[in-house]
Amino acid sequence: MVIVMQKNAEEAKVEHVVAELSRRGFDVHRSTGADQTVLGVVGDVTTLDPREFELLDGVQEVVRISEPYKLSSRTFRPQNTIVNVNGCSIGGKDVIVMAGPCTIENESQLFETARAVARAGAKVLRGGAYKPRTSPYAFQGMGIEGLKLLRAAGKEFGLATVSEVMEISQIEPMLEYVDILQIGARNMQNFNLLAAVGQVRKPVLLKRGMSATIQEWLLASEYIMAGGNRDVILCERGIRTFETSTRNTLDISAIPVIHKLSHLPIIADPSHASGRRDKVMPLARASVAAGADGLLIEVHNDPDKALCDGPQSLYPDQFVELMDELRIIVPAVRRTLP
Ligand code: PEP
Ligand code: MN
Repeated sequence: MVIVMQKNAEEAKVEHVVAELSRRGFDVHRSTGADQTVLGVVGDVTTLDPREFELLDGVQEVVRISEPYKLSSRTFRPQNTIVNVNGCSIGGKDVIVMAGPCTIENESQLFETARAVARAGAKVLRGGAYKPRTSPYAFQGMGIEGLKLLRAAGKEFGLATVSEVMEISQIEPMLEYVDILQIGARNMQNFNLLAAVGQVRKPVLLKRGMSATIQEWLLASEYIMAGGNRDVILCERGIRTFETSTRNTLDISAIPVIHKLSHLPIIADPSHASGRRDKVMPLARASVAAGADGLLIEVHNDPDKALCDGPQSLYPDQFVELMDELRIIVPAVRRTLP
């Protein structure tokens, strides 16, 4: 962190800032120019709130030069984290596609969808059993019975499983049915839940909150990693902007930005980002071209009858088409589609 003093700030004001920093255990490197002093702060500044110093007399600006997150930053770990799930490597050369319905509805719906996505090349089966629905009157998910179906369908078609966990008490019972625990956008800053999944040894798919900055998102991942769980996969699922043509706005730039700031894998969810199936394929193509380590796609065997998110769910034959397109795009960006 660097503190820039105002031009011609009195010596007493500079000394007061230096004393305050020393009192908190920081080393201060002072650089005095013709009319301006700059203070370099050395030590663990992650817990320092820059505003406390901005308010001190004579201070012009406080600039953070190191990230407030540590375990998730590329400075801390330069090489990519590769998350291994059921023989798939997420964050390596492979682009991993996760697909399935928004919510698990019944056995035939899930098995038909699972069969279709497995045949087309998906490696992970998605399906919500606990659903964070905006309306309390909407279908809330099948709970543990749904998770049993998810595991059975995954076994039958050779797919790993991912499903959303909404609260701490659900973690333990979910462990035997899911290979990846998903934290939804609405829970990205549920810090108790983040800390609790940090205690388990199972990969976590951390969705970006719909109004979260990249820094807040990486700090959320830090909560999980601080508990000792280093297998975090980030998922860009669109953020709220002023634009209303799509359900959310897919922040494609987040993909290269995350790759630069963090060693964690990042996948994209064009289904929740766009909210419409006619936009899912172009956004999926763009995400992979921008460097996404995988995709999360909603597919339903009969989207017109889906209990949740039907309009953004691909028909099985559209998913086949998307996978065919990925077979061209993925090698073009020097990746592989397993
Ligand atoms: C989902 O994946 O089903 C979901 C609810 O996503 P999000 O948390 O991104 O809205
Ligand atoms: Mn959904």
